Amino acid sequence: MREIILVKYGEMALKGLNRGTFEDVLLRNIRYRLKKIGKFSYSKAQSTIYIVPEAESDAACGELLAAAMPRLKKVFGIAALCRALTCEKSFADISAKSVPYLEDALTVAKTFKVEAKRADKSFPMKSPQICAELGGILLSHYPHLKVDVNHPDVTVTVEIRDANAYVHAAREKGAGGLPVGTSGNAMLLLSGGIDSPVAAYMMAKRGLRITACHFASPPYTSERALLKVEQLCEKLTPWCGSMAFYCVPFTEIQEELQRNCPEEYFTILMRRLMMEIACRLAEREECGAIITGESLGQVASQTLPALACTDAVATMPVLRPLIGMDKTEIIEISRKIDTFDISIQPYEDCCTVFTPRHPKLRPSVADVAEAQAEVDFAPLIEKAIEGAQKKVFAQHISEGQMQE
Ligand code: ATP
Ligand code: MG
Repeated sequence: MREIILVKYGEMALKGLNRGTFEDVLLRNIRYRLKKIGKFSYSKAQSTIYIVPEAESDAACGELLAAAMPRLKKVFGIAALCRALTCEKSFADISAKSVPYLEDALTVAKTFKVEAKRADKSFPMKSPQICAELGGILLSHYPHLKVDVNHPDVTVTVEIRDANAYVHAAREKGAGGLPVGTSGNAMLLLSGGIDSPVAAYMMAKRGLRITACHFASPPYTSERALLKVEQLCEKLTPWCGSMAFYCVPFTEIQEELQRNCPEEYFTILMRRLMMEIACRLAEREECGAIITGESLGQVASQTLPALACTDAVATMPVLRPLIGMDKTEIIEISRKIDTFDISIQPYEDCCTVFTPRHPKLRPSVADVAEAQAEVDFAPLIEKAIEGAQKKVFAQHISEGQMQE
């Protein structure tokens, strides 16, 4: 018995987006996502993508599908997905194959119902008739079952489509959102903390392809701290796709800051300089926005006046998807995307190494700009950009090590 995967993207997601682009990008992301698992063929019709495993035996196909499902659940743009049985377009074949195919699902269920969708209107039976007759056959084979049309334990769905009919009993929720790439590119400021990986996940969900940059200050920050950030990139690739990553040398800038600028402005000046460099790298990578993991009031550098000071040097929109979230809500997502355990490893960040004792809580843009003018940072910024090391984290490589 051959199974395939039906991927549904739902009409809602298409609002405001060109349908063709949406489908093409989603299909490309899915292919890329399953590339390393094995061979599949793909087709699409009526807001559904059909993923057909290409292997000799039913068992081998089943294994391919089992490996594909958890990966597909992390692909943005998919509203729902299910493994489905392929049948000929005849009621005899549908009912003969459904009985054994649904055994696992129906033995444990107490109630069920059958739903039919006739995309092919030329099929000789109407939907209610398919439901009634298949329902009757299933009841005769699984007599412990009762029909419950309102809250069934299992909904058996029969889809009559162009080439085949499909039967499935377990529709699973997809990751939702928009396919990565359909909204353009953005540059993420990635620290080693809990927040910024969550910000990446949230904006990738809205269709942004993400490039990350991290500011490192060796020897104040260690090789191990950088490795931690790279591990976070790897953890993000199942959601974000392949991800370019810049490590920017920040030591000289920070030392210069410390020598010449008022201590109370250290953090805010650091943020501004990070923002300036990030915007430059973002332009190089054709990004249309910056993403940070800031949350209003979380720390002194995330008050409104402080955010105004960083925004003042930005040359593009700064997206802060966590701005209205509590730490507990952010942690919940970081656990879900499996970055939490890496984020809480106690390695130093350049911001924590140079934390002022009494940071300015209500800095004015003018005062901060004046403090920054103590040093000519332009050549240092150029040097940092030149020294930035780029790496690409490819999705299918990290995938192998991922625990589903
Ligand atoms: P947490 O608050 O969980 O420690 P965080 O990532 O939010 O982690 P913050 O110190 O609150 O860390 O920094 C606020 C934001 O500034 C981060 O979300 C990130 O976008 C950016 N940021 C901080 N430090 C760095 C860094 N070393 N490299 C790149 N971006 C950074
Ligand atoms: Mg934070």
